[in-house]
Parts: sequence; C-alpha cells; structure tokens
Amino acid sequence: MNHTITRVEAYALEVPVDFKWAGSDTRRQASLTYVEVETASGQVGHGMTALAPAPVVAAAINHVARPAILGLDATGHEHAWNVALWALTAPGQTGIGCNALSAIDIALWDIKGKLAGRPVWVLVGGARRRIPAYATCGFSFFDRDQLAEAGRLMCARGYESLKMQVGRPGLDAREDVVDLDKMIGEDIARIRALRDAGGEGVEIAIDGAARLDLDHAADLAARAADLGVAFYEEPIIANDIPAMAALRQRVPQMKIACGQSEGQVSRFRDMIAAHAIDIVQPNVIVGGGFTGAARAAQMASAAGLRVFHGGGATYHNAHLHAGLAQASGIEHQLSSARAAEKIFDGLPEFRDGHLEMTDRPGLGFEIRDGAIGEFAVA
Ligand SMILES: [Mg+2]
Repeated sequence: MNHTITRVEAYALEVPVDFKWAGSDTRRQASLTYVEVETASGQVGHGMTALAPAPVVAAAINHVARPAILGLDATGHEHAWNVALWALTAPGQTGIGCNALSAIDIALWDIKGKLAGRPVWVLVGGARRRIPAYATCGFSFFDRDQLAEAGRLMCARGYESLKMQVGRPGLDAREDVVDLDKMIGEDIARIRALRDAGGEGVEIAIDGAARLDLDHAADLAARAADLGVAFYEEPIIANDIPAMAALRQRVPQMKIACGQSEGQVSRFRDMIAAHAIDIVQPNVIVGGGFTGAARAAQMASAAGLRVFHGGGATYHNAHLHAGLAQASGIEHQLSSARAAEKIFDGLPEFRDGHLEMTDRPGLGFEIRDGAIGEFAVA
C-alpha cells in the first residue's frame, strides 16, 4: 500500500460554546485549527491545535508545511516531523510553527492507528484504559455563586479535584489597567467559595494563564497555599523560567505547574534544570504532537517530576495520558470539551471522574459532517 501524503488541508474554526449552566448564561468562542492529512492509499487522519491565532496557524500549515511534507511517507512520523519542524521553525523557536507541527503530528498518529487498526493510546504505550480526571469548571466569567454551583455540580458527577481560573485579566494589556492587589483579594475569596462548595476532601487547583509578574504571583501563591491549594498553573507572564524558580524559593509550600503553552522540548529541559516547576504539563496540541509531548513527558519522569495534563484539548491529550505509564491524569476542561463535542463524533465519555478510552482505531473520533462548513472562518 502506498501511504504517501497526497493532501494536507487546515481550517481555522471558531466554535461557539454556550454555558447555560450553573446559573450562567454565557456564550464563549473557541478558536482552533483543524487539519486533515490524506494518503495515496485513501487514509485520512486528522489533528488539531489551539492556544494560537487559528487563521495564522492554518496558513502556516497550508502554505509552509504542506509543500514540505507532500510526497513523504505518512507512516514515517519521525521523518515528516523533522521536515515539518525545519520548514516551520528553522531556528527552533517555540511559537506558531510548533502549533502547526503539533496538528500535523497528531494527524499522522491518527493515520498510523487507523492503518494498524489500533487506538493511538495503545500505540503510544497502552498504560491504562481509564484515566483519572480533574474538572476545570471555575471560569473567570462565572460570578462567585456560579463558581460555587459549578463546583457542586462537578463533585456530584464524581470529580474529587477541581481547577479554577485566577489572575484574570492580570497584565493582559487588551483590558483596562487592573488593580492587581484588589484582583488577588477577589481571587482568594473565589478560591474559598469553590473550596467550601466542594466540601471535605475535594482538591482545588488554580490556573493563572501566565498573566502576573513575580511579586503578584508570589502574593497570590502564598495566600492560596494557606487555603490548601494543590498547585498553581502558569503563574508568571511568558512562563519566565528564572521568575518561576524564584517563586518556588519565595513560596516553597506551593507547587508550580507549567508546560501547556510550550512548543519545544528544550523549554521543558530548561524549566526542569532550573528547578522552576513541580508538575510538568506537555500539551500534544502545542508541544509537537504525540512525538514532542512524549519526549517532554519522558524527560520530566526521568527528573522525578509529575506529568499532568493542562491546557484543554482533553480528548487529544487523553491518548498521551492513557498511553504513558508516567502520566498521571487528564484535565476535563469544560469549555474546550464542549467545543470538541460540537465538532467531533465518537468521543470517549467521562464517568465518575474518569475518562474511559475506546478501542476504535486512531484517535477514535471524527469530525462531524458539516462542522467545517459551519465553523470555518475565512
Ligand atoms: Mg491552563
């Protein structure tokens, strides 16, 4: 059979996500890039990426990666990965090129699984079929009562660990200048509200999305640690490595998690070597697909650090966390998961705070008929 790559097509999608839930009536927009790779044998694999400007990533795939990888063997993912890497980001920088590479790599693994008749998680390593999950349900667009209600609803569904957003909008310059001390005071009140809603034994984690400077992150970390928060994800702007290392020195009682927005494995090496983080979060949709994320995960494991998921794209990352023995859990990011549910058929299901993987070949889910036409943006 001829598995030469004959078609590469990326689409920027904007998917509306409604939150008529937990007393809220909010509409969010999920932005992602979806890619299809087809072989001469007629096999079609798909991948995706997000957390980057979707139309730019789609253009990088269609205009830069496509001419580089057309004609290559789709089953030789190491070869195609390196060709695409050098085409997209020759100086080896983290950035949009890594997002494009990630989507392509995921599609190649989907093809590999379909050709082998096995799911990607089994090809990655087949460590476990049932993955423990935590719920990211504490969105910044919820008021305090809605936040507490979201926590109660997820605990009733069997989750024992909840994550909430903090530090919004922080230093995001698109918003008005914010009184960060006042914002942190409100974050602390919201952490208390979610903790009280979750009740005894429920673990609370916080996610800063890299929007604070060191001083404010240290203040929030110290006050959150007093409330028993399990970890603080992406505390500092640009995931600044020396600043995260300093934060760990200043607030040693708070665990720091990072990695969801990192493209290159060398960034993980630097975070680990600088003792800047406690929990390593490679993200298959940003960190070079399964090929790149597995390398970061293995390195973290060799350093004795916990490998944990953050950054959405739950159903794609699930294959890494079901595949690798060192991986320890998946994020059920409600907003990202709802976007996936609108565009994909055949997704695995969450039950009692766990995701149960399926035996379907490849990723095991497919784009819904009409979804591209409905959600693609020019
Ligand atoms: Mg995050």
